Amino acid sequence: MAIKSVGGVAVQPRHRLSCHCGAVVLELTLPDGIVDPRRCDCSICRRKGAVVASVPLDGLRVLQGQEHLRLYQFNTHTARHHFCGVCGIYTHHQRRSSPHKYGYNVGCLDGINPYLLGDVPVNDGVNHPADRGGAATAAPARQDTG
Ligand SMILES: [Zn+2]
Repeated sequence: MAIKSVGGVAVQPRHRLSCHCGAVVLELTLPDGIVDPRRCDCSICRRKGAVVASVPLDGLRVLQGQEHLRLYQFNTHTARHHFCGVCGIYTHHQRRSSPHKYGYNVGCLDGINPYLLGDVPVNDGVNHPADRGGAATAAPARQDTG
């Protein structure tokens, strides 16, 4: 699923992503728009509640605020979760299931309202693919309106 506009707002081939306070600004290369947006019910994503999509590692550049980015790791310490140390907003993470990709917070894309994406599939993050040795699979879309 690749999304080139959300609620009438075009996803730019180079789209800016920022935390809430503006200290951290990233530029994402999104030639195909927002690819494969998901929610996830793993222990960290269920707390963040963010809609996350993917870019290749070379598709993300920190324009500003590298010094404000904090790193959080847990469990196997494979995934690298980044958030702004000033406002606390999650911006992106290096995936554990696909280490050659970053996940990013769709709600941080300039001008994009993630609630206008419609139904977003929920990943089965409780049964992490890296824990069962299988390929990443997605659970069918669930109504997740809480
Ligand atoms: Zn911030």
